[in-house]
Amino acid sequence: NSQSFEHVEGADDKLLGGLLPSGFDVASCLSRYQSFMYRKASPFKPPSYLISRLRKYEEQHRRCGPGTQAYNEALSQLKSGNQSAVPTECNYVVWISFSGLGNRILTVSAAFLYALLSNRILLIDPGTDMTDLFCEPFPDTSWFLPHDFPLNNKFNGFNQKSSRCHGFMLKKNLLNASAEEVPAVPPYLYLHLGHDYNDHDKLFFCDEDQTLLDKVPWLIMRSDNYFVPSLYLIPSFEQELFKLFPEKVTIFHHLGRYLLHPTNEVWGLITRYYNAYLARADERIGIQIRTFEEGPGPFQHVNDQILSCISKEKLLPEVDRDNLAFGLSKNPRSIAVLVTSLDAGYSDSLRELYWEHPTVTGEAVGFYQPSHEGFQQSHKKNHNRKALAEMYLLSLSDKLVTSAWSTFGYVAQGFGGLKPWILYKPEDKKTPNPACGRAMSIEPCFHAPPFWDCKAKTGIDTGKLVPHVRHCEDISWGLKVV
Ligand code: GDP
Repeated sequence: NSQSFEHVEGADDKLLGGLLPSGFDVASCLSRYQSFMYRKASPFKPPSYLISRLRKYEEQHRRCGPGTQAYNEALSQLKSGNQSAVPTECNYVVWISFSGLGNRILTVSAAFLYALLSNRILLIDPGTDMTDLFCEPFPDTSWFLPHDFPLNNKFNGFNQKSSRCHGFMLKKNLLNASAEEVPAVPPYLYLHLGHDYNDHDKLFFCDEDQTLLDKVPWLIMRSDNYFVPSLYLIPSFEQELFKLFPEKVTIFHHLGRYLLHPTNEVWGLITRYYNAYLARADERIGIQIRTFEEGPGPFQHVNDQILSCISKEKLLPEVDRDNLAFGLSKNPRSIAVLVTSLDAGYSDSLRELYWEHPTVTGEAVGFYQPSHEGFQQSHKKNHNRKALAEMYLLSLSDKLVTSAWSTFGYVAQGFGGLKPWILYKPEDKKTPNPACGRAMSIEPCFHAPPFWDCKAKTGIDTGKLVPHVRHCEDISWGLKVV
């Protein structure tokens, strides 16, 4: 409701309860210290252990970041062409920019968590648009990989058959994680953690491989998956994860809010839209429509699905199709529905329905859709700016409806700390029954987890090992923290 907007301007609010470091230049990234004016206060307080770990990380990043002596020393190993690594003061994980924006937001956060757990420094490949979309998260240093990083021109070529691919080397017995003594390791390894990874690549999620990887100064990671749930299943990480996130479901919620601050251009898109269409409503509902159907939309079965979900879960007042209910109030309670979709058709239908008929409660319902881009155009700057703005706007809702399988929706729910209603994935172009269901937690789903028992060296259902890692609501073989 609109009261949540009226925060007292206090330092604690501004820094999200100590999650954010102070001392940044405000004007260079307005969203960083203004987000609290738009977002409801999080129901989850950042734990003090997490806060102190982040401050320690920031200090490490300053000491090891691009341009420092430690960085140059580590870099010299890459340049030397040496076959085996010598220990360095700082170790790094390099995130390769890959896949749609929702996926990237999740994998950057997962890579950062991995950096915290494995005591590495996270550097990110700016790709085509990361600097256009996001501010620097760590004070007095940079998380962007410099233009002259020696492996930059190799990123596109890295694949599962690359000679320095972790899984490939295991397969060819060029690395042996279970050897008595940790063998010599190269100065860098490529980690293939994309959805198409193979059984050897998946050994990343085993303790003995982590012990081996510990010795490698540079890990270059490509993923399109939120692999955090499986980090819980690595015994050497588990205790630290419990300490960092006593409320287990808050991992992406805290890390996303900590790391990913929209640049001023994107912040303009967000705040102008919010102030013009959403700020004055008594209630805000977000509906994210993402279809993975072939052919052009909108689809009738999806239209039906949205209506069925809204009605069954009582997310919006029903319309009175006999037009008998006449509103008596000149100033009725107002509900603003933010619809995001590549297609304009879904919100058009909803808007028409609620224009042609009154609501039984007399409430006024407005539908707002910022863009309808038609199709995914991840190489375009302005397209991605809008995508980020829309994920963020969805996260400002009081209630959220998302689409199954979509990382775009996961980002919105995680940023917002909202347990969404998930529109299940239709099969054979039919409206699913039930149309939607409430998510168990605000955490994203890991779509392609490993099913391997590292100790017993046999397959296992990793969704049944611990109570806090379960199969997802929207993808039966996925894993999520609950
Ligand atoms: P996912 O494919 O749903 O998991 O989400 P991603 O964000 O990784 O990739 C989908 C991409 O398609 C987005 O990044 C956008 O580029 C585009 N897209 C999908 N849905 C929307 C939408 O509702 N609004 C906008 N602006 N772009 C969208």
